[in-house]
Amino acid sequence: MNSPDSKDRTTPQKILRSVVELCADCDTCRTLMDEDCLFFLELYRLWDQEKESGVPISEAELRNLVGLCTLCGMCPCPGIPSDLMEAKGRYIDREGLPLTTRLLTDVPRLARLCGTFPRLANILQSNKTVSSLLKKVTHIHLERELLTFPEQNFFQWATERGLTGRREGERTVAYFAGCTAGYLSPQIGRATVEVLEQNGVTVSVPPQHCCGMPHLVEGDRTTALRRVQSNMNDLLESAKRGDDLICSCPTCGYFMKIFLKERACYSDAYQRSVNAGEDEIKVPVSGGRDQKHRVLKKSMYKDILKDDGFFSTLDPLARINLADYISDAGEYLARLHAEGRFDTKFTAISERMVYFAPCHQREQNIGSPYPELLSLIPGITVERLEGMYCCGMGGNFGFKTGFHEKSLEVGRPLMDKIREKAPQAIITDCMSCRLQFNHALPYPVFHPMEILARAYRHAEDERITI
Ligand code: SF4
Ligand code: SF4
Repeated sequence: MNSPDSKDRTTPQKILRSVVELCADCDTCRTLMDEDCLFFLELYRLWDQEKESGVPISEAELRNLVGLCTLCGMCPCPGIPSDLMEAKGRYIDREGLPLTTRLLTDVPRLARLCGTFPRLANILQSNKTVSSLLKKVTHIHLERELLTFPEQNFFQWATERGLTGRREGERTVAYFAGCTAGYLSPQIGRATVEVLEQNGVTVSVPPQHCCGMPHLVEGDRTTALRRVQSNMNDLLESAKRGDDLICSCPTCGYFMKIFLKERACYSDAYQRSVNAGEDEIKVPVSGGRDQKHRVLKKSMYKDILKDDGFFSTLDPLARINLADYISDAGEYLARLHAEGRFDTKFTAISERMVYFAPCHQREQNIGSPYPELLSLIPGITVERLEGMYCCGMGGNFGFKTGFHEKSLEVGRPLMDKIREKAPQAIITDCMSCRLQFNHALPYPVFHPMEILARAYRHAEDERITI
């Protein structure tokens, strides 16, 4: 269950071929991931076909195969998404990025365009003929709703409230809202600020770009690295000044906590920082700087254990620092709760809801803080959906003509499960899951922060009335 040997990584086909051989040999994900991942379904289909026919998997089939990975991070071996990311990047280096992909992954630019001409954008989207044409041109499936952008995004709201400069306080947080809370659903960003402020935290919103994940999924290495570098500088600057760093989007969190620091600990800079001996490579046992280390012989492992992945051009210590400093917003509130500093003066919300922990939240190894926090609201029933379900949306993949049906197929077991429960609302922290739920189910969907803010707001209303 190791990562493929890094010796022959000269072309994307070779990287993919080594992944195929490794996973075919191991075979674990044939049954483990058969319902959750289109990549593995296709990998084993291609492998079986090759074995039966004796005809090797073609280059075109490999190209198509890598397109099925959404970098959800759920595969058991962390080296696999990194290798697939590398292969995607190399294809795009060679082929260039299609214009529609460039447009669709650039949420801030889309938001700016729609925000500049909001009425025109709404008219275009509500006109059936024009919206069908738009979908055709951008390869969005006809049954999908086009994204709509609110007139005021979160960053404009934060600027109006004076949150974008440096702010002093007893406990300060720099909030990375990401594109989803930033541009698509600013109510999530506003709720996050409200909840933090209710708990005595002073919030600032530092300059920020997209975390880079949508660009990575499409293999757009140049844009991803540019965004990451800029975010890393600004966030670490805030951390240096004493702010805690938080994000409310599980994809941004997974990206900054897990993906970005992948292999950074093998770098010379890290090895020097932990005083590794001349013939030593110190590998953190469970990530992070202050962890215990397993010591391996450098002379034996130096060709395999090196910081040669997708992000190796970025400062490895900065990548590790960012991963160590940033917390998921729910994780941060749970910490306040453990310290006895979480305000539990909620008013009742007498509703029955289900909570779905998205893939990128589960893969952060932070437990599942929201159900416990939400259960502190009197009257509420929050049932956690247990099991390895996936909504199938895969970022914006579900929008695409060629992926729409498959995405619904992957998400079907989860949708059936939710229908069985017939909740009054669904809670999930992932915007991509929210879009899929909105498409497939009749129940309203909320971010956990929206529910917490609502319960505080009620309490505030009551206090005012009294
Ligand atoms: S990703 Fe799955 S099939 Fe591939 S090596 Fe790891 S466990 Fe085995
Ligand atoms: S990262 Fe997700 S989509 Fe990609 S291979 Fe692993 S499980 Fe499948």
